[in-house]
Amino acid sequence: MKSGNLGYPRIGREREWKKALETYWAGRLEEEELHSELKAIRLRGLQTQKEKGIDVIPVGDFTYYDHVLDTAVMFGLIPERFGFTGGKPDLSVYFAMARGTREATACEMTKWFNTNYHYIVPELSDIEPRLTGNKPLDAYLEAKAELGIEGRPVLVGLYTFLKLSKGYAAEQLKSWIDRLLPLYGQVLHELEAAGAEWVQIDEPILSTTLDAEELQHVSYIYSRLSAAAPGIKLMLQTYFEAAEHYEAISALPVHGIGLDFVHDGGRNLRAISQHGFPGGKLLGAGLIDGRGIWRADLGSKLGTLTALTGIVAADHIIVQPSCSLLHVPVSAEQELALEPTLREALAFADEKLEELALLAKAGSSGPDAIRRELEAAEQSRSALQQSPSRNSKQVKERIAGLASQPSSRAESFEERRKAQRERWNLPLLPTTTIGSFPQTPEIRSARRKWRKGEWSDTQYDAFIKAEIKTWIGLQSELGLDVFVHGEFERNDMVEFFGEKLSGFAFTANGWVQSYGSRCVKPPVIYGDVELTEPMTVAETVYAQSLTDAPVKGMLTGPVTILNWSFVRDDKPREEVAYQIALALREEVEALEAAGIGMIQVDEPALREGLPLKREHWPAYLDWAVRAFRMSTSTVKPETQIHTHMCYSEFHDIIEAIDALDADVISIETSRSHGELIESFEKHTYEKGIGLGVYDIHSPRVPGSEEMTVMIDRALRVLSPDQFWINPDCGLKTRKAEETIAALRNMVHATKLAREKY
Ligand code: GLN
Ligand code: ZN
Repeated sequence: MKSGNLGYPRIGREREWKKALETYWAGRLEEEELHSELKAIRLRGLQTQKEKGIDVIPVGDFTYYDHVLDTAVMFGLIPERFGFTGGKPDLSVYFAMARGTREATACEMTKWFNTNYHYIVPELSDIEPRLTGNKPLDAYLEAKAELGIEGRPVLVGLYTFLKLSKGYAAEQLKSWIDRLLPLYGQVLHELEAAGAEWVQIDEPILSTTLDAEELQHVSYIYSRLSAAAPGIKLMLQTYFEAAEHYEAISALPVHGIGLDFVHDGGRNLRAISQHGFPGGKLLGAGLIDGRGIWRADLGSKLGTLTALTGIVAADHIIVQPSCSLLHVPVSAEQELALEPTLREALAFADEKLEELALLAKAGSSGPDAIRRELEAAEQSRSALQQSPSRNSKQVKERIAGLASQPSSRAESFEERRKAQRERWNLPLLPTTTIGSFPQTPEIRSARRKWRKGEWSDTQYDAFIKAEIKTWIGLQSELGLDVFVHGEFERNDMVEFFGEKLSGFAFTANGWVQSYGSRCVKPPVIYGDVELTEPMTVAETVYAQSLTDAPVKGMLTGPVTILNWSFVRDDKPREEVAYQIALALREEVEALEAAGIGMIQVDEPALREGLPLKREHWPAYLDWAVRAFRMSTSTVKPETQIHTHMCYSEFHDIIEAIDALDADVISIETSRSHGELIESFEKHTYEKGIGLGVYDIHSPRVPGSEEMTVMIDRALRVLSPDQFWINPDCGLKTRKAEETIAALRNMVHATKLAREKY
């Protein structure tokens, strides 16, 4: 039995990758130096995998920005606006596509399946694809020459690539398959000629919902590819959920199938047990969680492995992570500041490689070969399990009594609307903002000083209060109707709450790539979540004391906190969401008791938690909605609950959004207003709603005429009685002048609209 890997983090131990790229972009690193720095990071990653004892090492998974972009560029799919005229595309074209230039807007970027990694969306249009290089081949040759590693080249699969691309109509799919087939064939052919034996073809799309026609496309693609390079063996890799249509997929003419045995809800193992596994094929057994950061329960993994070896010969199994390790931080070795029980229970990429090697060893020579390691793993997991952090009596009782926890408001929306109208008496088309105001360098530097202890609490509080006061004054001058305090005290909308709730930890170096050179360091939810002290009351109450206008309390919702964290793996996510929800409810109640009458609970990440397969959507939405409602349902009818979401794909989850039962919702829309408006033609939505009337992502100050167009368009399908006027999202990334100017125009556009409607 062998151990294998599917992809290794690119960012380097100390995020050297990010630093090199950003210095290059800033013009402070020569191109040659960039190449050599990135090469060093790439080779170090390969070397680590080798040293950890991994038999099958992926090559070609490394990138200068994004592996989907690499694939598009390799196929010459470079949109015309980048002025590429032929030959071999250089770095400037590559980075222009990723980041845009003054002349050409960047390619769109979107989430890679249900992860927080973002890829660059390939644009197909009418460009004729052609090979401009062979990235997997270069990587294969380099690993061999430099390190003597016989790597397994990785390619984004043809069907996944096409399904993630845009710029073609559904009926052109088949012709695009035919256009790309010879290119994939050529890449494989060249690899074969260079001596590669295996190629890993990533087709995560095979874990999404696929209909019969799509399945036919897939089968057509793989019969063609296997004929195009008969000497090369294809490892067809699925991940992130169970493979859809297991029987058909496993029968494809490839030499190996990789399956995820962690995030499949047990489906892959059941499918194999029921239908068997095709003789002669290799099984890539994704046993180690490539998405989570916890040390594996090696005993239970061995159990699965034993079940598999009852069906597939041990020498035909590769033990591997459930997906590329791109989604976890590099090494837990540096987390010395964490409490030892927690630290011992962590496994980042490098520790996962060790687990893979151990499992393969046990698979070959029996569990006794790793007895000591099995015990150590068991011990560290049970120590964390027994630690007080996971055994809060109060949380346990609350979760046991979950069924009796209120998760809907006592009054109907109709009744609440009446009570809220009486209380607030807001004008038609009320204006507000989404929560944050500019996080200036001064604010960040103040926070740094305070964290380092250079500033006392009193000093920092006074500073934050002064910011709040300034912006309450500005909101009142601008003539907004509903104010916010501005979120100056927050570094990040999840971290801020995580630092105050129990059960959260923060790593020193647990970075993962989010997009391009941008990395995030998700909080770790390791224990029971409880509110230990009010989190937002002081700032909100202070802001409210300065004005008669309502100030919205501002919280991050349970589902977003969950989806943007690494979550403990001993409990269903659903239960962790309820724990967070119940803690947030206390905060909501504390705000209400302190006289705050409007409370916004943001859920920008609700949508990204959607499972890949449609059939699993209802179950997820069900508990996600319940968690949100649990946190917001105990308030009085005259207390107005707001929520905010940053995406416009609204149509397919509109029932769930309605079910949140928020009195007012604001949604990011300005970049795709048309589509969103259409969805309101098909569904009726009766609660308060604000569709962002301008895009906050750009420094450009939009004129009021532009906003008028947005308002008029929205009011064709929504009633002026329910419509709110606000920007698209929070304003933390904007400069003060831009913010003030844009909001002034927004208030002006509202004034005109009030005269009209
Ligand atoms: N209230 C948050 C803010 O304004 C919302 C951020 C978000 O939607 N991502 O910054
Ligand atoms: Zn937003």
